[in-house]
Amino acid sequence: MPPGAAYQGSTAGVEEAIMNDMKLREEICRFARSLFERGLTPGSSGNISVRLDDGGWLVTPTNASLGFLDPARLSHVGASGELIGGDRPTKEIPLHAALYESRTSARAIVHLHSTHAVALSMLPEIDPRAALPPMTPYYLMRAGQTALVPYYRPGDTAVAGAIRGLAGRYSSILLANHGPVVAGDSLEAAVFATEELEETAKLYLLLRGLNPRYLTPQQVADLTAAYGLSLPADSSQGHE
Ligand SMILES: [Zn+2]
Repeated sequence: MPPGAAYQGSTAGVEEAIMNDMKLREEICRFARSLFERGLTPGSSGNISVRLDDGGWLVTPTNASLGFLDPARLSHVGASGELIGGDRPTKEIPLHAALYESRTSARAIVHLHSTHAVALSMLPEIDPRAALPPMTPYYLMRAGQTALVPYYRPGDTAVAGAIRGLAGRYSSILLANHGPVVAGDSLEAAVFATEELEETAKLYLLLRGLNPRYLTPQQVADLTAAYGLSLPADSSQGHE
């Protein structure tokens, strides 16, 4: 090994880590702005987190509009929730923490106050184990099945208990009268799944009362087998 090789190696490692951190921060801000600009979360609502290799997270700050984030001011939170750098994190940290804890495959979480998903969460007929029927293949492939958890005041740490109660079986969760929380194995996957959930909620509202044909149990089984989906339960239940 030439003299200084180990030192150079570690310098390159540090530089790479800094580059990755910058890329991740920019990616969070780019997706956040895109969601905001399409009207998917108003004002300073909504938050995004990404799990880091050290067990901590990068999280969007409290009272920050997703449309106008500064990559340098994102909150860097340690594994036990302590602030390491940046602005104070969203007060909805407990719901992110509970979902990461119970769904260990999650690398990113998106939470929005998107209109159609919020509307869906208030309808009386919603099955808390499958908030939407199997309407489209892409809903099932990206969002899976969606659980509905009862209403909690924003920032109420009791929401964490409700999310832990789902035992990590759901990647997409609807908070009643509040909005969706969606986990993905990457930030892009979490964003796309949240968009799919919102669009499917919109379709449900458009078709409500019109007796639409949903995917049949056979079609759902075919998708599940072809794409290796692991849906929490038989999604044909309760939606005849
Ligand atoms: Zn919220």
